[in-house]
Amino acid sequence: MKWLWTTPDLVAALNGRPIGNLPQGVTGISIDSRNIAPGEAFFAIKGDRVDGHDFASFAVANGAALLVVSEGKLPALGRLVTPMIVVPDVLQALVDLGCAARDRTAARIIAVTGSVGKTTTKEMLRQALGPSGSVHASVASFNNHWGVPLTLARMPETTDYGVFEIGMNHPGEIRPLVAMVRPHVAMVTTIAPAHLGNFRDLEEIAAAKAEIFEGVVPGGHALLNRDNEQFAFLEKAAEAAGVSHVHSFGADAKAEFRLLDFIPSAEGGLLRAAVGGQTLEVPMGAPGRHIAENAVAVLGAVHLAGGDIEKAMAGLATMQAEKGRGRRYRLAKGGGWFTLIDESYNANPASMRAAIALLRDAEPHGRGRRIAVLGDMLEMGEHSPLVHAGLAEPLLEAGIGDVWLGGPDMAALRDVLPEGVATEYRDTADALAAHALDAVQPGDVLVVKSSKGTGFSRIVAALLDKY
Ligand code: ATP
Ligand code: MG
Repeated sequence: MKWLWTTPDLVAALNGRPIGNLPQGVTGISIDSRNIAPGEAFFAIKGDRVDGHDFASFAVANGAALLVVSEGKLPALGRLVTPMIVVPDVLQALVDLGCAARDRTAARIIAVTGSVGKTTTKEMLRQALGPSGSVHASVASFNNHWGVPLTLARMPETTDYGVFEIGMNHPGEIRPLVAMVRPHVAMVTTIAPAHLGNFRDLEEIAAAKAEIFEGVVPGGHALLNRDNEQFAFLEKAAEAAGVSHVHSFGADAKAEFRLLDFIPSAEGGLLRAAVGGQTLEVPMGAPGRHIAENAVAVLGAVHLAGGDIEKAMAGLATMQAEKGRGRRYRLAKGGGWFTLIDESYNANPASMRAAIALLRDAEPHGRGRRIAVLGDMLEMGEHSPLVHAGLAEPLLEAGIGDVWLGGPDMAALRDVLPEGVATEYRDTADALAAHALDAVQPGDVLVVKSSKGTGFSRIVAALLDKY
């Protein structure tokens, strides 16, 4: 049996007090008692809502081989006979283990931040680097103060490429995370209005993202989006942080990794890009110009991390759009079928525009319509009405004739759409779902897009359930 961590290494990294008959090692690290696998170590993290110590017995029932618990909670766990390592602070212990994982590996490390596209880019990197070596990447959007150390702690010693998503809602959050990850390549996908309630303007968002450069290893690289209005700011910040090599990607003529051309198709599209002195034709497995933009960044990162570009191209050709991030379904109705594009995972102004472009490039058939089913973008603070009304412009430019809106903030968009657009408005996601189930017709293409907290994924679920 191959251990992820042998017990001596684990005890040394955590600097804790072992109790009981410890196993020789553990096969994995978990902080969730519901999906822990037998043989793994359970770290009883205290979160905002729940305390892992309350679930220690469930973790044991599900096969936890070892518990990492806090000194103060020991009396309450007295009846458990499972071996434990007792530490002053369990989250800090996870951080310590993450740092030990980083220290012991020779992997090339890529860190991804940005306002949108982190997970998409991270999953593309997983696909693109897979044929070049073993890849260890974050699960889902595990990009915060527990997600990053957990992902590090789970990294096998023999990993060739580590890919880490790093996120933030407030200034100062990225700095400690990137200090653990210590990337060879730090990427910023794009800077756009997100969590605007917590920031004055885009430059403040860019400044918070720029903390990622502080953790780049000596001789390392920064990879920035030259098409983004914050490029010059980020370039300066990367240089000021002492990053040895600053690179750029994008359609801009000065971009080092350059998007030359993108021809969209229903299944994906064909990307032409200039990377490392070569012009590449890259078939894309998932549709959308924003995916092609991410792909150029991915090819640049693969190049900088020493991966094989030819193999990376093959990886991108077979990728699938992620669930909630552009995945498509063809659903039967009334003797025909309609197309559902599921973008319900999350939304902000940048990703809304990307979704509207997806709809513009999609092909309805027969007398089908292009229908934008849009819900509130949350966390927009005082700018919210302006930001919502601002979607009228890309919708009209794309020639979208049918717009179905749900949620209080979307009233601002409803109020500015001209009469020529067939607009439906409902207060809630569920009322809009009822409308969608009824009104969708064969031949239509719908994109469903909204912030996570609005429940718009229920509209997707209702359509998938009925048709
Ligand atoms: P989170 O902060 O919630 O983890 P994220 O940065 O990981 O978000 P993704 O989940 O990859 O972002 O994508 C969010 C949405 O943005 C998706 O709908 C996706 O299709 C869209 N998107 C991805 N890349 C881009 C891009 N380069 N420009 C605009 N939109 C994008
Ligand atoms: Mg994410």
